[in-house]
Amino acid sequence: MNIVILLGAPGSGKGTVAGKLAADNANLKHVSSGDLLRGAVAKGTEAGQQAKAFMEAGKLVPDELIATMIKDVVAETTGDVTMLLDGFPRNLAQAKILDDMGAPVKSAVLIDVPDEIIQDRIAGRRTCPKCKAGYHVKNLPPKVDGICDVCGAALTIRKDDNPETVKDRLVVYHQQTEPLIAYYKDKGILKAVNGMTGISTVAAEFLKVM
Ligand code: AMP
Repeated sequence: MNIVILLGAPGSGKGTVAGKLAADNANLKHVSSGDLLRGAVAKGTEAGQQAKAFMEAGKLVPDELIATMIKDVVAETTGDVTMLLDGFPRNLAQAKILDDMGAPVKSAVLIDVPDEIIQDRIAGRRTCPKCKAGYHVKNLPPKVDGICDVCGAALTIRKDDNPETVKDRLVVYHQQTEPLIAYYKDKGILKAVNGMTGISTVAAEFLKVM
């Protein structure tokens, strides 16, 4: 098992690209910290109850809370698998937790999208609450308006995708997550792809550089 970290602002396409790559390649596994947390909130677990208010405010949940979930997934992933780790680490403390776990991080790939584009991308984002497939009203519409192509569930808008919360999430990204670019650059494992070229091209570029 080894790990490829996806870096990039909210709305840069991390989940879409990782989801596509995992669907197309049997040895790639998409692990999204946001999906793990949303799952815990939906189930009403202790961790979910703790995480809920942070997530709705666009703030990071406490490091230990998400790190415990990631540790469990890392421990249960074995064999000839590359884990596409989407949304973790989100700050330097989490990057160090991952290092201390002895997790075999092969590379960190930045999906580069300018801030001006992010608001528009997130405003059009729709998600399937059941199978987690992602859509965009303009860039990646479902075949039937409002309905998931994969499982037929009604698509929803994430609670934290409203414009006010997105602004806060971008501030958090620049202050806390962006320093990871330098962190992985110093380790010599940083790669980058242009996030503005369309999903198939971004996914193909990602696969090449990772
Ligand atoms: P995402 O789906 O990656 O955009 O994450 C949605 C929300 O989940 C974030 O705004 C945070 O509140 C929380 N979250 C996801 N990953 C992490 C993480 N690694 N550390 C702290 N909070 C996180």
